[in-house]
Amino acid sequence: MVVGVLALQGSFNEHIAVLRRLGVKGVEIKKPEQLDNVSSLIIPGGESTTMAKLAEFHKLFPALREFVKIGKPVWGTCAGLIFLADKAVGQKQGGQELVGGLDCTVHRNFFGSQIQSFEADVSVPELASKEGGPETFRGVFIRAPAILEVGPEVEVLADYLVPSNKVLYSSSTVEIQEENSTPEKKVIVAVKQGSLLGTAFHPELTADTRWHSYFLKMASEVGDGASSSSIVAVGE
Ligand code: GLN
Repeated sequence: MVVGVLALQGSFNEHIAVLRRLGVKGVEIKKPEQLDNVSSLIIPGGESTTMAKLAEFHKLFPALREFVKIGKPVWGTCAGLIFLADKAVGQKQGGQELVGGLDCTVHRNFFGSQIQSFEADVSVPELASKEGGPETFRGVFIRAPAILEVGPEVEVLADYLVPSNKVLYSSSTVEIQEENSTPEKKVIVAVKQGSLLGTAFHPELTADTRWHSYFLKMASEVGDGASSSSIVAVGE
């Protein structure tokens, strides 16, 4: 299996390194035609406005939308999640082009700016092993987005209870919260919708490869369907 990793900006090398550790080849995608050579795609974290400008410059949006539309597996991490969302809020001005496909509303900088980045244990039942392995995953949240709303087709894989003393981003569309006076607020930080996966945090920056394995399993399930039909076509 060859997995494409959008390589315009952000942590694409880190994703490719994790794939390599799992024995899978990850290839950099910088041009639309390169998408023809891969059966699945990871859109990394980084800075979504910059990534969108570069994607626009390289005329990647139509090909990315088509890739999503035909049901090829795509995983967006952090800025990649923003890219995949149908709607993003919390932009300073204007907004940006999105690939879309994931029926959700994402707040781009829900948890604040760079200095408000944090790590937290996130409970992900889907990652627990049958042998009783842990369902907890160490989430690395860097200027992280959060999912505020999801549509009916979206499966919530993980949410995060924002501690009551956490100050949320002041220019967010979410009400400004004062330290020690906020009620706890639950937001969604990992979702799946058919062949699309989105995480608000950065699994590629940890030594834990379970999210990558989870995506590869998703991709191979879709890929199996595709390869068996091509075998039929070859045999005909
Ligand atoms: N909030 C950032 C953005 O808007 C994403 C941060 C990240 O990918 N680590 O692009």
